[in-house]
Amino acid sequence: MKKKICICGGGANGILAALFFEKKNYDVTLIERSSSVGGILKSNKSGNYYLDQGYWMPNYTGIKEMDDFFDKIFTKKKFNKFFYKKKDIAGSIINKKLNPYSSFPDFKTYSKKVQKSISNQVLKYKITDHSNNFRVNLDTYFGNRFGNIAKNLVFKNISKKFWNLAPNKISSAAIKVVHLGRINLFSEKKSLRLKKNPFLNEIIAYPNQFKIPFHYIKDKTPSFYPKNYGVNNFLTHLLPMIKKKVRLNLNSNISKISVINKKINICTNKKNLKFDYVLWCGPNKELFQLFSKKKVNLFHKPIKHQTFYALVDKKIYDGGIYWCWDYDIKNPVIRITFPNNYSSNKILKNKKIIMFEVHESTKIKNIENYLKKYLVERKIIKDNNSFKLIPNSTFTRFFFIPSVKNVKLENNIISTLEKRLPSNIFLCSAQLSNFKFYFDDLIKLVYESYLKIKQDEL
Ligand SMILES: Cc1cc2nc3c(=O)[nH]c(=O)nc-3n(C[C@H](O)[C@H](O)[C@H](O)COP(=O)(O)OP(=O)(O)OC[C@H]3O[C@@H](n4cnc5c(N)ncnc54)[C@H](O)[C@@H]3O)c2cc1C
Repeated sequence: MKKKICICGGGANGILAALFFEKKNYDVTLIERSSSVGGILKSNKSGNYYLDQGYWMPNYTGIKEMDDFFDKIFTKKKFNKFFYKKKDIAGSIINKKLNPYSSFPDFKTYSKKVQKSISNQVLKYKITDHSNNFRVNLDTYFGNRFGNIAKNLVFKNISKKFWNLAPNKISSAAIKVVHLGRINLFSEKKSLRLKKNPFLNEIIAYPNQFKIPFHYIKDKTPSFYPKNYGVNNFLTHLLPMIKKKVRLNLNSNISKISVINKKINICTNKKNLKFDYVLWCGPNKELFQLFSKKKVNLFHKPIKHQTFYALVDKKIYDGGIYWCWDYDIKNPVIRITFPNNYSSNKILKNKKIIMFEVHESTKIKNIENYLKKYLVERKIIKDNNSFKLIPNSTFTRFFFIPSVKNVKLENNIISTLEKRLPSNIFLCSAQLSNFKFYFDDLIKLVYESYLKIKQDEL
């Protein structure tokens, strides 16, 4: 008889976990609290447009068995697969230049005095003990890596702009989300020489971001994106498979989880179910609350971002990346993304889409003019490029603040769960405190669970 497995949470990770276990011949039930699956993949709708909740580009995992499974699911006919050349190179490049405010700040554009101070600190870095660098606050992290001058000049502003908190209040786990670890400072020759040192290789960007030799690319796994515009297309592709292969329980609120004779009983508002294994793919806080019966509140509430969508006529020059963080403290735009560059434009009728994320607290009188001026100033579009906001396309989204206190709380929740949970319940959702945030991190947790289950069955 097939073993019964329950996946709790029907976001991207839960959906793929369900299909993976079905393929491995398990009897799979997917429990989702809301009325539809998709989580972050669900779109906002405005007129004829399905607009992404946030730009999303998943990676392959580097685990052959899982990646082969992805190849079967994300077929060549419907999905583009990008190898390193077209992949996110993790800096904000505008018009072939690194943006000084990007994730790879271009310190070559700063004064000689600033360059000297950063250079001194960076060169000291290779002889310092960095073992604790990933478990500190951003103030210490940046200070150790780039020195006080760089910290106060650039990184302090970035932290404030992003999270409305000073760097000493933000955990270094935040760099998993906003990659703030590398700089461009030295000449090409010197950079290449210094990058031979493994520590310095981590913090000095390859000088020519447009021609990075293969052996300098750390993450060689490809990424994928639907050929048609929109994360919505992941869902329209996956949903029929889910409906056919998996028992889907929507609108299911879990009120109790208990273990009797090694079977896991899950009580929902609709029915009580019994399973051999459970993969938890919803927020860990939810599971913790089921076990501890205690209400857990974050120390710093998520901040509100507003997203705006606009159309332009011509392809936007994005310098090989699909997003651009903007750390210019003087303007409220946080991030712009150009997802259409990664898909075809059939649905958009030759238009190209731009998505803006803006702090909700900022009041702008004429947002259309503001955003157009913003793009023109950065030479992302020319003046003659027709720019039009999609009507009724303003949506609010909440962003988790990776403050030291929130990350510590998350870490406590996970350690308590790991101690208390029976061995047939597996935690497979995001754990920022353990640097697990992206889709490939989460699906790797699913794969680890699969290996443990196989081991258990022997
Ligand atoms: C703005 C933004 C952009 C991102 N971009 C990328 C990217 O480009 N690439 C990347 O790899 N990752 C990205 N991520 C990370 C992203 O969160 C993961 O990649 C992935 O989509 C998370 O999937 P998930 O299934 O874990 O979570 P979610 O999509 O959040 O889904 C969780 C599901 O669980 C359900 N649920 C919650 N509680 C319960 C409960 N008690 N019982 C049952 N169901 C429940 C929810 O309703 C939801 O459907 C991004 C994250 C954000 C916020």
